[in-house]
Amino acid sequence: MHLDERRRLAYLDAIGIDVWLPRAAAGTPLEEAVADASPGVAVAAMDWQALRACVAECRLCELANTRTQTVFGVGSPEARWMIVGEAPGAEEDRRGEPFVGRAGKLLDEMLRAVGESRQSVYIANTLKCRPPNNRDPRAEESAACRPYLERQIELVKPAVILAVGRVAAQNLLGSDLPVGRLRGRRHELDGTPLVVTYHPAYLLRSPAQKRKVWSDLCLARTVGREAAA
Ligand code: SF4
Repeated sequence: MHLDERRRLAYLDAIGIDVWLPRAAAGTPLEEAVADASPGVAVAAMDWQALRACVAECRLCELANTRTQTVFGVGSPEARWMIVGEAPGAEEDRRGEPFVGRAGKLLDEMLRAVGESRQSVYIANTLKCRPPNNRDPRAEESAACRPYLERQIELVKPAVILAVGRVAAQNLLGSDLPVGRLRGRRHELDGTPLVVTYHPAYLLRSPAQKRKVWSDLCLARTVGREAAA
């Protein structure tokens, strides 16, 4: 079994076997159940086209029942920066693109400030389907969806990952610390430098934090350059 699949099973195991597996027969061992229910067994070996198709068809967690469509990700497959947010909101769910609307415009501005753009970076979310009423993703949903993001990161091979907002940062780093404690320093995710900053939706409510975000962006630029050197 591939390492990523083992890790995925470990996630599922860690949160209990009570995971929504639509085609799992009662009494089936967890591993077989996941393999049976998941088109993602070979996720770790997929190219972009296969991965995109797999996500579009995914019904691994119950968010499949309420989404309008999956929100895969956008940007350059060879980006130096990878931006990772939480999950699609209402507008993203409608349009099939991450970070649209007012928060998306602010993210675009943030990127422009460091010489990047929506086209030059790669933008994805930890979850590809919208949680109803924008509630926080549940542990089993994050675990089920994680291999897709991991494969996206492997395919892009960014010099730096910018985790925006509490949910993305905590999810990626396996931490329960608030953004205020995670930002301002370099982390690592499977060997890739990772910097945490506030979500643009939060910035719209708290513009006073923009200075901190600017400092996080400068840090990301520095660690990204170091990693690429
Ligand atoms: S959130 Fe992820 S795991 Fe759940 S149905 Fe959507 S694509 Fe599949």
